[in-house]
Amino acid sequence: MSETAIAAEAVCANYINGAWVASHSGRTLERRNPADLRDLIGYAPLSTRGEVQEAIRSAARAFPAWRSEPAPRRGRILAHAARRLEEQKEDVARLISREEGKTLVEARGELGRAINILEYTAGEARRLKGETLPSELPSNFVYTFRQPLGVVGLITPWNFPVAVPIWKLAPALVCGNTVVWKPSELTPFCSRRVTEILVEAGLPAGVLNMVNGLGEEAGDELVEHPAVVALSFTGSDAVGAAINAKAARQLKKVQLEMGGKNPVVVLEDADLELAAENTVTGAFGSAGERCTATSRVIVVEQVADRFVDLVARRAAKLRTGNPVDSGSQVAPLVGREQFEKVIGYLEIGKHEATLVCGGEPGSGADGVQGFFVQPTVFDHVPAASRLAQEEIFGPVLAIIRVRDFDEAMAAANAVRYGLTASIFTTDANRVFQAAERLECGMVHVNSPTVGGEAHVPFGGIKGTGFGERECGSTAIEFYSELKVVYVDYTGRKREGSLY
Ligand code: NAD
Repeated sequence: MSETAIAAEAVCANYINGAWVASHSGRTLERRNPADLRDLIGYAPLSTRGEVQEAIRSAARAFPAWRSEPAPRRGRILAHAARRLEEQKEDVARLISREEGKTLVEARGELGRAINILEYTAGEARRLKGETLPSELPSNFVYTFRQPLGVVGLITPWNFPVAVPIWKLAPALVCGNTVVWKPSELTPFCSRRVTEILVEAGLPAGVLNMVNGLGEEAGDELVEHPAVVALSFTGSDAVGAAINAKAARQLKKVQLEMGGKNPVVVLEDADLELAAENTVTGAFGSAGERCTATSRVIVVEQVADRFVDLVARRAAKLRTGNPVDSGSQVAPLVGREQFEKVIGYLEIGKHEATLVCGGEPGSGADGVQGFFVQPTVFDHVPAASRLAQEEIFGPVLAIIRVRDFDEAMAAANAVRYGLTASIFTTDANRVFQAAERLECGMVHVNSPTVGGEAHVPFGGIKGTGFGERECGSTAIEFYSELKVVYVDYTGRKREGSLY
């Protein structure tokens, strides 16, 4: 945080009531390229509660007109935004790499997802449907339809600085809500670009407001302000639980997507090469900074030695380096705090388990200083250890050995999280048994724990998820309210009792 004078153009502005406005808090957070700490990107303003309140007032004023706009017209704006993002894809991918740190290939993947979501949700504008139901009475019928909620507050993390905001913004807007968005303070330039794209696509003033700032100040104002009727949060479980407790006092509608400790289960009949390849992709892609990253492998003892060897060979070949260089496979971590946390877990792991490979900070191109960590594999990890239980959010894989399928299911479920899981097996019965028994929101079969599609609900259970799932049809359910209408067209007073 810096109190010294900074050139105004280096500080991201907020977007309130249809205008870019500089924060007057006088406080900023510096952002540097995590792959090259010499590269200063700029500053995020740490906006005040008053600035968030102004954004909420703007969203409240814009709501009546926006909710009256026919939904297909709202959808058309998202379709325009999809095209603009497509046109700017390469440029935005480079921005994501520079600010968040993921490789260019991964950044392009994130943008592909964001574009798909915009396209899908634009189409949903024409399908905001209700039901007609027969009545128990003659010449009566019942119908349902969906209405927007009002002003919704969106709070997002840094690890998918474009796709996660888009998967909240698109359904919130298409349903007719107006929005105040508090993005992560670590990715202000990506947030600015997302806002610009939506605004240029045609959003009227006040419909989308974006305010940078710290969670406990700007974020908390969204949680506490009575005019914000619903909150969608993605981030850590501690913050999510605190938000939920506060929001419950005002009976706000809440959706939370939080941490993960996702397992890959490898059975004795698995294609081990395939399992190893997919485990490495899931564990070390995006430097393990995905909520769906593979952080545990639960492998049957009979094939464990061979499997560990296959994983270790692949992990040892992966190169850390500048994410925009095509030869770099493992990106840096987003910042110093995350880096120190992951290095701390490497030390914990060395006491709790057997280090197979990695275990040290990595290096950037030509020794440039950045937040790199070597892809790390620990074997013989006890199921109750910190390595096996806590979300690390870095390129660290814990291998837990078990005797059989039943033990594998028990180990996979013995964590507080429940986002995603994979199983590698060639036994069709085991596939369906695992799909039933794994305690998580999404199961992958013979494929990595990561990934998801634009039109498919996304989210977890247990300590990971609360409220309706994001994306797909469930996103529309979260961002709208169902209303029921009873219609009597007899034109007469009703006979008998009404119950
Ligand atoms: P974080 O919880 O630190 O911050 C997330 C957002 O919440 C940020 O915008 C932050 O400013 C804000 N915030 C922090 N404290 C707040 C408070 N008291 N009140 C209101 N807002 C507050 O998380 P992060 O470090 O940005 O992101 C990493 C976490 O996100 C990981 O745990 C990861 O698993 C999770 N994540 C989950 C999913 C999912 O879909 N399940 C997707 C991506 C990331």
